[in-house]
Amino acid sequence: MKKIAVLGGGGFIGNHLIKRLKQNIVHIVAVDLKYPEFDKTMADEFIIGDLRNQEFVKKILAIHFDEVYQLAADMGGAGYIFVGENDADIMHNSAQININVAECLKNTKTRVFYSSSACIYPEENQMDAQNPNCAEASAFPANPDSEYGWEKLFSERLYLSYYRNYGLDVRIARFHNIFGPLAAYEGGREKAPAAIVRKVALAKDGDEIEVWGSGYQTRSFLYIDECLEGILRLMESDIIMPINIGSAEMVTINELTAMVIGISGKTLTIKNIDGPVGVNGRCSDNKLIANKLQWQPNFPLHKGMEILYNWVHSKL
Ligand code: NAD
Repeated sequence: MKKIAVLGGGGFIGNHLIKRLKQNIVHIVAVDLKYPEFDKTMADEFIIGDLRNQEFVKKILAIHFDEVYQLAADMGGAGYIFVGENDADIMHNSAQININVAECLKNTKTRVFYSSSACIYPEENQMDAQNPNCAEASAFPANPDSEYGWEKLFSERLYLSYYRNYGLDVRIARFHNIFGPLAAYEGGREKAPAAIVRKVALAKDGDEIEVWGSGYQTRSFLYIDECLEGILRLMESDIIMPINIGSAEMVTINELTAMVIGISGKTLTIKNIDGPVGVNGRCSDNKLIANKLQWQPNFPLHKGMEILYNWVHSKL
């Protein structure tokens, strides 16, 4: 039976990934600092521990895994990664996890998946909100707008250098704003879709919904099921170079908010306020994935946001 480790298996994507992987007959070992917050894990074993600790990682990876999914990272939404005060922790914690994992998997036959991010793309290519450039090849010369993005870029290069020097069998995806149920929607680490949904779900007719920034900043958001599909397809492929896994359906943040207000059926207005927003524009460029995997995401944003709205609403 295939043996799989999901590092960060208590997190949003990790928890969903375990469920998806369990559709096949596999043995899954999940590792995280915490259990999933909103769900019961489907992992066969769930080990609580700190992946920054090299001895711990050595022990976990001492047995052979056919596949390792490395999703553990110190991360959050804009309110966590763009405010500056968490930069040292973000860089130190995530880099240390990746250094440990790469080192422990060198000279093994394990295939490892690494979750990078759209945050690695250069800031200057994302100034024009309507025409951001997030083609994979545009990553260099590098200039991510956050330390979170710099760490992801460092770790991409770390895994790629282990591939070149130690034959590490790595697959790397750059995720673009993954969203869906069973993710944080309050507390400071939530992402824009869940934060907007929470604000709208709590509002009464006539209220104003506060949205960070001008509201004209653009993004694309990928529903979790399609992210999982992309991960599995990438893992089955022989593509070593980092590849975008994201939606090409670009919206402004105010359009996203108006969409959620529409879903709620309430009469609300949008008030744009100062807040950490990141780059002006960002959207997944799916030419490479379409070409290499003959597949790209196409689940409509509206449908995904309806599912998220209903879930958050049920939690409040
Ligand atoms: P998440 O925060 O829900 O999951 C990350 C998990 O890693 C958490 O459960 C956390 O407890 C765990 N973790 C952190 N430090 C750890 C440590 N020292 N030891 C053990 N576990 C530790 O995030 P997510 O949304 O599920 O994202 C998964 C991965 O995908 C992350 O690497 C993230 O950077 C990347 N990513 C996510 C998105 C997105 O939109 N969700 C976008 C781009 C990239």
